[in-house]
Amino acid sequence: MSNTKTRGILDRLRSGIVQGAEGYVFELERRGYIKAGPYVPEVVLDFPEAVKQLHREFLRAGSEVMVALTYYAHREKLKDVGRENDLERMNRQAVRLANEVAREGDALVAGNICNTWAYDPGNAKESSRIVRAMYEEQLAWAVEEGIDFVISETNDYLGEALIALEAIKQLNLPAMVTLASVQQSQTRDGYDYIEACKILADHGADIVGLNCDRGPETMLPIIEQIRAAVSCYVAAQPVPYKTNARYPTFESLRTDGDEQAFPLLLEPFLCNRFEMAEFARKAQTIGVNYIGICCGGAPHYVRAMAEALGRTVAASKYSPAMELHPVLGSDVEEKHKEFLADWKS
Ligand SMILES: [Zn+2]
Repeated sequence: MSNTKTRGILDRLRSGIVQGAEGYVFELERRGYIKAGPYVPEVVLDFPEAVKQLHREFLRAGSEVMVALTYYAHREKLKDVGRENDLERMNRQAVRLANEVAREGDALVAGNICNTWAYDPGNAKESSRIVRAMYEEQLAWAVEEGIDFVISETNDYLGEALIALEAIKQLNLPAMVTLASVQQSQTRDGYDYIEACKILADHGADIVGLNCDRGPETMLPIIEQIRAAVSCYVAAQPVPYKTNARYPTFESLRTDGDEQAFPLLLEPFLCNRFEMAEFARKAQTIGVNYIGICCGGAPHYVRAMAEALGRTVAASKYSPAMELHPVLGSDVEEKHKEFLADWKS
């Protein structure tokens, strides 16, 4: 663990909101370092500087947590791309890179485990053993390299999330466990999202909530109910896409030509930075403790969210200075709207 860090995750949450940032795999795919489809973070070994650069951009934009890029760096996925032999090296290096950049600021390092695609509720006993072994090996390497807490995320099954939680708690680390919310209201093993979070909290999760899949509009109503149901900390990390009642997840969004937009045709649905800032403000009002962003996330969103939470971050030095713009004037968002209204009329 880095000795430059002033306080751990639970200390920080006790005194206020912690801001996170994710979406590393999506962003590094856009930058040309990760293959869409398998989405395995080979970049960690092949272009470590690219990973560090993105960590650094999120850090400058206000993220207080450097999430080690071990998403999908598990045995099952590496087998798919023929890099099973790189498993340990990839996991260790990911945590090392996160630590190197965290030390440039005062950020925490989170180990990261996710849905494995190996869990099968129909064969829970056998598949749980496989999943547990995958988590234990990933986390053992992460702990050796130095992490402050663990984020277990995009959990489709409560059953799998509980295995992750147990593996984290065995190591006496704070656990943030968040669910995927691809389906209308339930995990794939049939638990209502709110009930599932309650069960995770009852089993000792320090932070519960949702990440990925849903944009601000369709994630917040569920988060509000989770907030009311649990007494532990709550996390919300939506995707910056305009999901709505008809298309509640980014996987369900359809293009004008009625094609599935996910994962490569999503650009027309991106939120703007003001919408993500608005999300941060609403999440704060609801009482969300860990506010972040997931797939589609980029530094300009993270900075806008940080500033919406009243923070000045390193990248604020270059926040829009529209008052200097000959047309736009002082209040950025307002002036931008006026500008557009004039320009369209
Ligand atoms: Zn995501």
